Amino acid sequence: MRPLSETVKTISESITLKYNRLALQLQREGKRVIRLTAGEPDFSTPEPVIASALTAMKTGKTRYTPAAGIPELREAVARKLSRDLGGRWEASQVVITNGGKHALHLALMSILNPQDEVVIFTPAWVSYEPQVRLAGGIPVLVETDSSYLPDVAKLKSKLTEKTKAIILNSPNNPTGAVYSPQVLEAIAEVAKSHDLYVVSDEVYRHLVYNGDHLSIASLDGMLERTIVVDGLSKSHAMTGWRVGFALAPKSIAAFMIRLMSHTTSNINTPTQWAALDALSLDTSYMRDEFKRRRDYVLERLKRLKLPHSTPDGAFYVLLDVSSISQNDTVWVEELLKQEHVATVPGSAFYAPGTVRISFAASFEELEEAFNRIERFIHKWI
Ligand code: GLU
Repeated sequence: MRPLSETVKTISESITLKYNRLALQLQREGKRVIRLTAGEPDFSTPEPVIASALTAMKTGKTRYTPAAGIPELREAVARKLSRDLGGRWEASQVVITNGGKHALHLALMSILNPQDEVVIFTPAWVSYEPQVRLAGGIPVLVETDSSYLPDVAKLKSKLTEKTKAIILNSPNNPTGAVYSPQVLEAIAEVAKSHDLYVVSDEVYRHLVYNGDHLSIASLDGMLERTIVVDGLSKSHAMTGWRVGFALAPKSIAAFMIRLMSHTTSNINTPTQWAALDALSLDTSYMRDEFKRRRDYVLERLKRLKLPHSTPDGAFYVLLDVSSISQNDTVWVEELLKQEHVATVPGSAFYAPGTVRISFAASFEELEEAFNRIERFIHKWI
């Protein structure tokens, strides 16, 4: 047989989804597995959103829409994000995508040429690097400092004439770090002076536990070079619905829409009408609950006496197990096998020696999970 794609050969299955799959498999076998793997709120999708989807289906909103989405939703997203983030977007700059992941893929495909370099700060979410490769680019990994914040001097030292873009993710997956205004200002200066695009993944923007979210797009001169990625998965407990938004300069949005028109076409139509109603819902009760869980998890982590990140946002914590294990993947797999607690190895996030724990699980599950983790560590050491 003729060889398959050399490009796809360079990437592997998403590790977050892999461990989630393994955990679900064990659950199906009847094991009481606690899943602290994929970042997926355990809340139900709000009732009014489900009602809107049903009404849409019953009233014939079941046909194709324009690839970029229904005008009503694009307008509402443009209005809401302009207000929330302090940008100025029109509906024509909004693309409704199959989740944030799809928005990122379209953005990178639209801006990169072969061998263009893209800076990714590590630890980083698992899909940025493969997505840069799929778009023909070269990922350039730049380690963050001890507080998991981008080190701007290090960033500058990695720039070449091939650098095309920087991917930002604040609040951050997997560390929970929230970038300070100073850091964002400094990155914005670098982007402007080197003529770089910024792909800003802000899908956790609703989940900030101290202070406010700041978008780099709102900083002086950044709107024309930033693509903001947002969505409803994390903020509205709608992971399975697949609703993402990209807000981009007009020429980039047009490229993204062209790509969509030949690949997925529009995201499913009833979901778009449901998303329109979701936008006006207040889901801050979810954030308040995640904060309560975060505080609890930090209390429990204290007892483990291992270093860890202190999340100011999102719903992940990175636990450093390097002092008790040579290999984070082995540690994660043993924890799953022996105690049925599913986590994700930090090496998947370019943070070897660590383990990502999602606290988007119920309070009771977190309590039980940490009892099991404690027991496992005592057995392990
Ligand atoms: N973004 C979530 C996570 O990191 C969902 C899974 C995925 O798409 O990677 O767990």
